Order: sequence, then structure tokens, then C-alpha cells
Amino acid sequence: MIKLIGIEKIYEGGVKALSDINLQIRKGEFVYIVGSSGAGKSTLIKLILKEEDPSSGEIYLNGNDITDVNNRRIPYIRRSIGVVFQDFRLLHNKTVYENVAFAMEILGEDSKLIRKRVPEVLRRVGLNRKASRFPDQLSGGEQQRVSIARAIVNNPPVLMADEPTGNVDPENALGIMELLDDINSRGTTIIMATHAKDIVDKLRRRVIELSKGIIIRDEKRGRYDE
Ligand code: ADP
Repeated sequence: MIKLIGIEKIYEGGVKALSDINLQIRKGEFVYIVGSSGAGKSTLIKLILKEEDPSSGEIYLNGNDITDVNNRRIPYIRRSIGVVFQDFRLLHNKTVYENVAFAMEILGEDSKLIRKRVPEVLRRVGLNRKASRFPDQLSGGEQQRVSIARAIVNNPPVLMADEPTGNVDPENALGIMELLDDINSRGTTIIMATHAKDIVDKLRRRVIELSKGIIIRDEKRGRYDE
């Protein structure tokens, strides 16, 4: 489903963020990307999202070569991958409902479908009663649930999460992980960069460890530390 072949990423200024990355992620997998700060985790995610281009190598998504920038392909990628960030990135002048609906509107979805699907997905993340609140009226954990709802509302086959529990207290972090686990169990592939050792050690899944831009470990049911 996602395949990286011989990926190297050198940023302007000469920083080598990734080198010799060969990686295959299959449909339905749950993958943690771990490694210390600066190891290349965010860069790896940005390459898959087409926010950055590799300096060399190839990237395939669902069998399609997405290596070269091609604006016609960007909507396809946006549809195929939902994204969740550490800092939520919600629109503060829009309600919970509107934040989620907006993700469908920008893809040009039918308003009838939007009115049907947004309440469904809000129910799924446990926020149907808070649909008319604004993000600032919610806790960190609730804001992250809104951002997860927004990420899955278009039913993407892949969900990428960059430190999704980083701004959430431990109790709510567990709830966020249960939600991601539930989403994964329904078939969505999840790739999650994290520093949360307790979570990785509790919910054991595939662990890919980066260090200085290379993969130093790839284990099926790994722990945070080797
Ligand atoms: P991580 O997410 O594991 O903390 P990053 O992928 O953010 O690691 O960073 C990997 C390396 O690339 C670091 O040395 C970082 O300073 C560098 N880097 C990241 N983004 C840029 C950029 N836009 N320009 C130059 N260097 C960058």
C-alpha cells in the first residue's frame, strides 16, 4: 500500500534528514515511527504526504508512483491519507461540526452526504453532543478527537498521525489511542510518529526506529526501546 524505495532526503543547506530508506507498509497495518528528536520522523511523514519531495528514491501509494510532484495527483493523495497533528490545527472560528464538514466541502462532496456523514463520524469519536462548540471550548483530548474525526470523515485508507498524544494529558491520551485502535481494526492503515513510550509498550504494534535518518530497527510487535 505504501512503498518507499531507496529514499534519500537532503534539505536545502545540506542537512541529510533521511538516507537509504526502504520500507513497505501493508494495508491494515498499525506502525509506530520512533526515534529521538531530529531522527527524521517528520520528514518521513512529509514525504508520504507530498509536503516534501525526496532528493532521490521512489514513493508508491496504492501502486501509484507519487514520487514526482504532479498537481493533478495531489487531490488523490489528500483523499487517500487522513492526517492528525500534535497541535490539532483546527479552525478556531468554526464549530466542531463545521471543522469536520469543511474537510468534505473542500473535496466537493455533496451537501446531503455531508449532513449525513459528519454526525456519524462525530458520534464515532464521542463528540456528537459537542458539535456546536468551538475548539477553544474543548479540552485538548476533545480537540484531538475533532481532528481525528476530520481526518477520517472522507474514509481514507491511510491515517498518518504525528505525535497525536503530544498535547494531551495521559488519561485522554489513552482514549485517543483506543480510538485510533478502533479505526485501525476497521481496516484503516495507521502510521504514527511518537515519543510516547508507555503507549508503544502497551499497545504493541510494528515499530520502526529511525536514528540519524536511517532505519535501525523494524519489529513486528516491538517495544519503544530495543
Ligand atoms: P524528527 O521528526 O524525528 O524530530 P525531522 O524529520 O523533523 O526529525 O528532522 C530531521 C533532520 O532534518 C533534522 O536534522 C532537522 O533539523 C532537519 N530538518 C527538518 N526540516 C528541515 C527543513 N525544512 N530545512 C532544513 N532542515 C530540516
